[in-house]
Amino acid sequence: MKKINCGVIGVGYLGAHHARIYSEMETVQLVGVVDSNPERAEEIANRYHCSVFPTAEALAQQCDALSVVTPTSTHASVAIPLLEHGCHLLVEKPLCTNLNEAEQMIQAAQKHQCYLQVGHVEHYNPVYRFLATHIQKPKYIVADRLAPFPNRNTDVGVTLDLMIHDLGIVLQLVKSPIQSIEAIGVNVMSKNVEDIANARIRFENECIANFNTSRVSAKKERTIRIFQPEGYLSIDFMEQRGHRMWKEDGQILNEEIPFHKAEPLRVELNSFIDCILKAHQPEVDGYLARSALEVALSITHQIHNNALRA
Ligand code: NAD
Repeated sequence: MKKINCGVIGVGYLGAHHARIYSEMETVQLVGVVDSNPERAEEIANRYHCSVFPTAEALAQQCDALSVVTPTSTHASVAIPLLEHGCHLLVEKPLCTNLNEAEQMIQAAQKHQCYLQVGHVEHYNPVYRFLATHIQKPKYIVADRLAPFPNRNTDVGVTLDLMIHDLGIVLQLVKSPIQSIEAIGVNVMSKNVEDIANARIRFENECIANFNTSRVSAKKERTIRIFQPEGYLSIDFMEQRGHRMWKEDGQILNEEIPFHKAEPLRVELNSFIDCILKAHQPEVDGYLARSALEVALSITHQIHNNALRA
């Protein structure tokens, strides 16, 4: 069986999981890792039986495909030379920090005929797959995403860090241009970026979506409730469970939705390798990631212009 030679750039919290999963995949040979922290690179290379490379370019020489799992503000500067080298990339979400960089990454991937997949991992969660096939005409959506303050790099606010997951999902489900966005947010633990953000998006097809995101929370929550004519769905991304309620013959019915649970990151990496083996475009490509980023940046600008308070 043909194996794809893979590597990981940035093996902090999430990059270590990319390395773990690649090392377990039958279709992949994990060649090596790069990290600006040499001890961390050594630790992860030893754990998953691969080599440490001094630079991303040196690793790219030996690989067909790479994951870029460095802090968000470095994604474009790390990814563009690798695309120019002809490497297929899985860049973690958010794609980058501005639309100019996003355009350059998309153009570089096109010019050098590389696949560019972006790590919007919830799109690979089994519960999203259910939503994508059971939501026809959403009228009202509530997305809640809460997490404790992370013990890692927080170079972007919570909108680009966490809300972007829900923005990507809702844009895919609603399939309508946006009419207006209202957003507020505050910083709590961070100095210059928001840790709590609340946004309301009105779509031209009259759907309204409310997003409530915090990274200053004792508990973790990743849920979405979607109301459409004659019923609603309530889904928990973390627990991978949910239920639906609907009206039939004048009665209100309610049922649990059965899901086959799966590790979303594993599904995402399998899908990336599948694109390369079978030569098809990624499900979550640079265009989808750019549209989520564009909305996230509008929300961030409103928060910073209007309401960011210490
Ligand atoms: P982290 O700080 O734990 O890890 C980043 C690693 O990159 C560190 O080990 C650091 O030393 C290394 N690094 C920094 N600059 C580098 C460079 N130029 N070249 C090589 N290595 C470099 O951060 P993290 O939590 O793993 O987040 C990394 C990225 O993954 C971020 O973009 C974040 O948004 C994303 N992320 C996505 C999800 C998800 O659900 N999809 C979850 C967590 C993080």
